[in-house]
Amino acid sequence: MSLEHYPEHILDHSKNPRNRGTLDPADIVQREDNPLCGDKLELTLRLDAQGRVADVKFSGEGCAISMASMSLVSEELRGKSVDELLAFPKDKVLDLIGVPLTPPRLRCAFLSYHAVQNGTKAFRSKPRGK
Ligand code: ZN
Repeated sequence: MSLEHYPEHILDHSKNPRNRGTLDPADIVQREDNPLCGDKLELTLRLDAQGRVADVKFSGEGCAISMASMSLVSEELRGKSVDELLAFPKDKVLDLIGVPLTPPRLRCAFLSYHAVQNGTKAFRSKPRGK
C-alpha cells in the first residue's frame, strides 16, 4: 500500500462523514460494493410528498475516497427530484473530490454515484400502489 496524500476536505469528509446513518423507513435503499477495494455502502433516501429528497443517510465502510465521495455526494442530494437524481452528472463526483484519481480509485469514487443511480432506477421501476 502506498501512502496517499489527499487534500484536507477529503480527509475531513472521510473521517467525519456527513449524513452518516440509516433512514428507516426509506423510499430508496441501495447497497453497493466495490470488491476490488473492499468498499461497501448503503444509501437510504426519503422523499417528501412532492417526490423530492427530504433526507439522506448512508452507512458502510471503505477507503478514504469512497467514504469522502459518498459524504460529498450526499450533501448534494437534498431537494432533488427523482429526475434530478438520475441526471446527477458523473463528472460532478470528480468535481467534488477535486483531485486526480487513478483508475482503481475511480471505482471507489463512483460507488456513491452508482448507489444514487441504481437506487433511483430501482425506485422508479417499482410499481406504486397508491
Ligand atoms: Zn476504495
